Amino acid sequence: MRQAEAKVKSISVLDRGIDTIEGVGASRVKEFEARGVKKLGDLLEYFPRSYQQERAEQPIKDLVADQIQIARGEVVAVDYIAMRPRPRFEATIDDGSGKLGLVWFNSSFLRKTIYPGKLLRVSGRVKFFRGIPSMAQPKWQDVEVDAEKVGEDVFRAVYPASAKLSSAQIWQTIERALPEILPEVEEWFEEGLLKKRRLMGRRAALEAIHRPRGWKNAAEARRRLVYDELMLMQLGLALSAKMRQGRLTAPKMRLDKLLDERIRARFPFQLTGAQQRAVWEIAKDIQTSQPMSRLLQGDVGSGKTIVALYAMLVAVANRLQAAILAPTEVLAEQHYLTLSNLLADSEVAIELFTSRTKRESRGSVVKHVASGKVHIAVGTQALIQEDIEFANLGLVVADEQHKLGVRQRATLKGKGLSPHYLVMTATPIPRTLALSYFADFDVSTIDELPPGRRPIVTRWLRQSQSGEAYGFIRGQVKEGRQAYVVAAQIEEGVDDTKSVKKHFEKLQGGPLHGLKLGMLHGQMKTEEKQRVMGEFRAGKIDVLVATTVIEVGVDVANATVMVIEDADRFGLSQLHQIRGRVGRGSFESHCLLIADAPSEEAASRLTAMTNSGDGFEIAEIDLKLRGPGDFFGTRQHGLPEFKLADITQEMELLKVAKEDALELLSRDGDLSAKEHGALRRRLARQFGDGMFLAQVG
Ligand code: ADP
Ligand code: MG
Repeated sequence: MRQAEAKVKSISVLDRGIDTIEGVGASRVKEFEARGVKKLGDLLEYFPRSYQQERAEQPIKDLVADQIQIARGEVVAVDYIAMRPRPRFEATIDDGSGKLGLVWFNSSFLRKTIYPGKLLRVSGRVKFFRGIPSMAQPKWQDVEVDAEKVGEDVFRAVYPASAKLSSAQIWQTIERALPEILPEVEEWFEEGLLKKRRLMGRRAALEAIHRPRGWKNAAEARRRLVYDELMLMQLGLALSAKMRQGRLTAPKMRLDKLLDERIRARFPFQLTGAQQRAVWEIAKDIQTSQPMSRLLQGDVGSGKTIVALYAMLVAVANRLQAAILAPTEVLAEQHYLTLSNLLADSEVAIELFTSRTKRESRGSVVKHVASGKVHIAVGTQALIQEDIEFANLGLVVADEQHKLGVRQRATLKGKGLSPHYLVMTATPIPRTLALSYFADFDVSTIDELPPGRRPIVTRWLRQSQSGEAYGFIRGQVKEGRQAYVVAAQIEEGVDDTKSVKKHFEKLQGGPLHGLKLGMLHGQMKTEEKQRVMGEFRAGKIDVLVATTVIEVGVDVANATVMVIEDADRFGLSQLHQIRGRVGRGSFESHCLLIADAPSEEAASRLTAMTNSGDGFEIAEIDLKLRGPGDFFGTRQHGLPEFKLADITQEMELLKVAKEDALELLSRDGDLSAKEHGALRRRLARQFGDGMFLAQVG
């Protein structure tokens, strides 16, 4: 029923191709399509980049100096001065109130088009020479004798354009289509809500964003449409979460005081208050049959692993399996080690599975996972990719999720019930992103570091001072500590960026001569990496020269110095992660960033690093510097981008939209009410029809 109804509606003006607009031919259609505009509805939402104010036409006698102004008049004189190197064409126009001089350089062709008797409208910056106004290089157009004067200032939209499709052409097309499209625009929200949030109507907003009366009008239109964008995202995420929950059932775990105490007894330390709270929030979720969808965020070193382990052990005690997914092999191995150590004298069976797991053992791991013999499976994406079937998977922990791609939800296969899902992020997620892209997650935040941590002293050194950095390492090693040196690449490239291999040799031969050096990078064989990491952990290696393979997860409390070569080459959150490899014990730790003459943006990153040790603050700065797409890394989050909303700036509207979306859904859970038809259709267009199936079926 509903689908048929949607079909009929869908042949609306908004779904018509833009070739149905008068004057839009095949080549224009092609240019528009290249910019993602196919239908009239797309055109309506092809929003201006900015606005330009064009002043009204002025009588020539009223022109003032130094302003861009518009005038019109009859050409009364022309002259071509062929003087090298800049031949110029001059004209004078007269409108009865005064004369205006015009000059164009290198434009001899104008002789053919501008001649006495013609009427011109010109626009340009006015200068006075000997009391006579003039414009250099004015924009000009022919006007008809009786053409209407531009009586008021015009405020014109400027669109993202290309060489083949100018902003003016886009504006022209939109202008032509608006009278037909606008009547089709339906309001999405109730009057009361719009009033409460001081938002203009949707139709008025769509008109005003393209043809505003002025700055204020444009800003109000934008605010309304940003709200709409945020609402769509909030509603979309809330509905799909609801659909998952409605359709999926997770195993309900039991957790009592005894089990809680048994698990804690395994931990070598007391949980911090913040860890305690996170554990409690997770525990509450997994004791229900609604699949948990929770984001666990905390600064690097805040102790997320142990919180995840708590949840995994609850699962295991409930005779369920748990899986933990890591973005890299090194991190998977690190988790495997940490967990194996913590569970050394227990009966919990834990296995590691990555793409490098040897063929001989692959079969048996797969078998044991399928039979339920393995309680905790640690792995990389290989765990997902290889179609391994779990006997009774109860919990999936995805570590450092924004590397895997946030929306690439673990599609781990289990028989029967769906697992609970916990995502750990390496970097705290700025509040605006948590409120937008993660609106369908519940969030637990660990905002406290384990006791005894000391701030990491961070300095930015020039290349010429790198001797100081390596001298410092020598001193620390003498005191029994260890160090990392990070380089941006494995092999020498075309520029002079340091490479792990060359730099390793250089350090060994010079600045760090006599110390035990190890090397670690992604091209090494798994056993080799394991051996090196093992030796570093055991203190047999003093200094580990590595790529960013050590970025996440590596946990050696005795390491107190981090030297980052070519630090300007790294992103801010990445630098903070790398820095987080030190400062994990009770010794004072140091991070030395080495970089020369970086770009302005790189300088802001390095300065932020020296000024702040707080991952939450760093994440906010990083988001501002890079924008949301790059913050997650190559737009992996898989959600529609916002067209208008600048997600780093819309805190206020984000909060409001979240609140309003939830309120709306509490009244009309599947948006089936008649007055929500337009909104519902629009959501289906953005997120796919499937999102409503759960409610319909
Ligand atoms: P991250 O949040 O970066 O993943 P980890 O889970 O790796 O942090 O923990 C960082 C270090 O802090 C580990 O060495 C861990 O053993 C230690 N740690 C975690 N929680 C506590 C605690 N409550 N008290 C003392 N040390 C802790
Ligand atoms: Mg970690």
